[in-house]
Amino acid sequence: MRIGVLGAGQLGRMLALSGYPLANQFVFYDLSGSPSVGLGEVIVDRNNEYLDDFLSRVDRVTYEFEHLPVDVAERIAAEKPVHPSPRSLRICQNREAEKTLFGDLGIPTPQWRIAESPEALQQAAEELSCPVVAKSNTEGYDGKGQAVLKSPEDAKAAWSSIGHPKLIVEKFVDFSREISVIAARGEDGELAVYPMAENVHSEGILRYSIAPAPGLSADIREDAERYIKLLLNELGHVGILALELFETADGLVANEMAPRVHNSGHWTMEGAETSQFENHIRAVTGMPLGDVTPRGVSCMINIIGSNGSSADILKLPYAHLHLYDKQERPGRKLGHINIVADSYEELIWRVRNCASFLPNCPEFDCSLTSA
Ligand code: AMP
Repeated sequence: MRIGVLGAGQLGRMLALSGYPLANQFVFYDLSGSPSVGLGEVIVDRNNEYLDDFLSRVDRVTYEFEHLPVDVAERIAAEKPVHPSPRSLRICQNREAEKTLFGDLGIPTPQWRIAESPEALQQAAEELSCPVVAKSNTEGYDGKGQAVLKSPEDAKAAWSSIGHPKLIVEKFVDFSREISVIAARGEDGELAVYPMAENVHSEGILRYSIAPAPGLSADIREDAERYIKLLLNELGHVGILALELFETADGLVANEMAPRVHNSGHWTMEGAETSQFENHIRAVTGMPLGDVTPRGVSCMINIIGSNGSSADILKLPYAHLHLYDKQERPGRKLGHINIVADSYEELIWRVRNCASFLPNCPEFDCSLTSA
């Protein structure tokens, strides 16, 4: 099958790498002018001239990037099957729509308000009581377009630092850790939920994902599974959906979701029987989903800013290196390393050893190491 992918970054690259063994071909459609996918056929279309050309070359369309205009997805959907649907895309790129859907489905969220002026931001901060987090309602990712208000008087400065006409203001959640749940839904409604991951961020960027997340209670696992199934079925989603959650003393609180393969699911490449990338391709091509059982315990380490010593990493018998062939730049995701072990104890040791070859990699600090 010829699969068209909207977006042409590392997620598209990994989708193609998992889709080629199933005899699929890939055409990428890039609106940014700086594709980094490095394989398949790439159509760069900064002025919206080549959409018809792209569509003439593909049988089905999916995406690896959710910040693309919904009208483009809708135009495509009028001609070719698009998975996930433009509705999934529209909701996931708008925090207000996302939080409203969570609420409608009974999925807990932080208390929130919408603010469309600095005065409204100040009022929201007063109503919710500080600290609160203000976020641009659309276009934000990796903590960009956000500010924490310690007091309502911070509203003016926060408003101008974010520089967006519509903000969502959330009560600051006192969480013990961040976790995510990733699941696939097939064209026929089949569901497959991966074990949850514990995610460690630094400066707003994911650095480590540990899966299965250690020490999760059965209640928390069941809640997360229930929430993602509710979302997948409500959206009629086909493909991978990722849901980011905060774990608190009172249970799970939903943060946001992504209608695509997700960085906190990269561990599945070696750490699960079927990777998130292959399962996404299986779903969008109407094939049965693959087994999501974990192979031992895993940790993914993101390579940010500098590739470090690849030769040293490749000498480690347990390190699986994935490089995205991108230029080094501070804060840029350049690759990741997956480590699989038989026990968490062995995993900690391996992760620390491997991370020592990555310059500026923050110390491995998670629920396992602080226990
Ligand atoms: P987001 O872009 O919504 O994923 O937010 C980026 C990061 O900011 C999250 O991974 C959290 O660490 C933090 N964060 C976001 N929203 C909240 C909140 N309501 N309370 C506490 N921390 C938050």
